[in-house]
Amino acid sequence: MRLSLPNMPLTLSFIFLLGTTQVLLSQELHTPLERKHFEELSTYAEWTAFVKQLDDMSNLLTVESVGQTLEGRDILALQFSKSTFGQDKSKTRVLICAQQHGNEQSGKEGALLLAASLLKPENSYLFDRLDLALIPQVNADGSEQNKRRNANGTDLNRNHLILEEPEVIALHHFFDRYLFEVTMDVHEYAPYSSEKWKKYGYRTNSDELIGVNTNCNVSQEIRDFSNHVFVPFYRDFLTKHHFSNSIYAPGGPPEMDYIRHSTYDINDGRQSFGIQNTFSLIQEGLNGEDNFKMRIQHRARGQMTGMRALLEYTFQHAKTIKKMVGKQRKKLISQKPGTPYAIQMEHTRTGAEHPLPVYSYATGKDSVIMVKDYRPLVKSVSEVSRPLGYLVPKNLPELVNWSQRQAFVSGPVPSLKKIKIEQYLVTTIDSIDFERDTIMHPKVRIEETEMLNPEDFLYFPVNQLKGNILITALEPASELGLVTYPTYAHLVKAGEKFPVLRVVKK
Ligand SMILES: [Zn+2]
Repeated sequence: MRLSLPNMPLTLSFIFLLGTTQVLLSQELHTPLERKHFEELSTYAEWTAFVKQLDDMSNLLTVESVGQTLEGRDILALQFSKSTFGQDKSKTRVLICAQQHGNEQSGKEGALLLAASLLKPENSYLFDRLDLALIPQVNADGSEQNKRRNANGTDLNRNHLILEEPEVIALHHFFDRYLFEVTMDVHEYAPYSSEKWKKYGYRTNSDELIGVNTNCNVSQEIRDFSNHVFVPFYRDFLTKHHFSNSIYAPGGPPEMDYIRHSTYDINDGRQSFGIQNTFSLIQEGLNGEDNFKMRIQHRARGQMTGMRALLEYTFQHAKTIKKMVGKQRKKLISQKPGTPYAIQMEHTRTGAEHPLPVYSYATGKDSVIMVKDYRPLVKSVSEVSRPLGYLVPKNLPELVNWSQRQAFVSGPVPSLKKIKIEQYLVTTIDSIDFERDTIMHPKVRIEETEMLNPEDFLYFPVNQLKGNILITALEPASELGLVTYPTYAHLVKAGEKFPVLRVVKK
């Protein structure tokens, strides 16, 4: 902390608490968006200067670069902690990141409003129990041009399994460093652009939507807790603060197509953390109809309020969450080989109807439609038995490099006396429906094989925190697997053997 103030456009007063170790701001701090009266968005230069000023003023906050974008902009993490960030094991660690999609500006603006508010003395209680890392902007390059994708033209929120883009790699390396127990990925949704919905006469109209872990390989306890305990609190909190809200349920329009909870693909931010048994969420704020600045004040405040709901909830239940995540992660790394693991899932009905808040184009009024074809449950439709681990041939650089980017733990091949090696034969290559997309789907047959030279392989045991990522990615018939991506599709050919081997118990 420095006490010399760099060119701040406003006067600040300080109060000193806890001797010299804690300095908190007693006066409202204004983000670049507020200073511009919500008429212009914060640019990268403006917001990074703003958070560095906050850093200089407060001992609660340390700003760190966790990596760089393709165009060389720092990806900044604002770390709030009453001690050294991440060091106090009694604290529950929370990661909130926004703006993976560069044209979703309200996430960044909301995160900056949150950052300023967290430095107010009345909010410092949160950090008695939490350490928070807040990344206002993952995709600075996209944001500067108000584009969804990064400078490579890649959708970053479809890159968490294949992990090819520097922004996403940085995010995961940061996650790996602290193993956050709670994560929230902040986005915007765009109901205006759907022609189908326009014809139907309605559009969805909630200020904020909240999505939880949906992949059925995530601990049932975490999923139940998220759905039945956290979501009601979150919704209540937003309602009390006058922001309309609902659960994140895309699809429809009703009667034409089903409505489901959003994807279970672990290639997005929320699910990629969630699959490591993290209490992981996605927040989707309503965007502007034809202008990303439209209603930005309300939108940014809505996003901030949703993030604040998460912090408040985590504060109130910090020990429960920490214990639950700790226990479920321990379970994850000590699972028995042979237990079933879902590699193909579907969205199914439970019989429940969903009250969907909508806006009517005809009357200009809000109402609620009861959705009958509502499929909130993700059910496994195809499973494999959990192996001890996978053998990845060293002569396949695409797989070796991927495993390095993922930073999997590798180990020595278990004693050959205790294991069998299995290899897949690809019989035919078919296609299946995955969340309304047609994807390639190989049919495979498993065969026992001789152990080839162990020196030719890297061994990845599945009993590690990223074990579920290994299984999802490396099973050839997994609908979320690597081979469904163009870079890896050549690894499956009809009539040939799949190069990754399974190691199972004898
Ligand atoms: Zn998004």
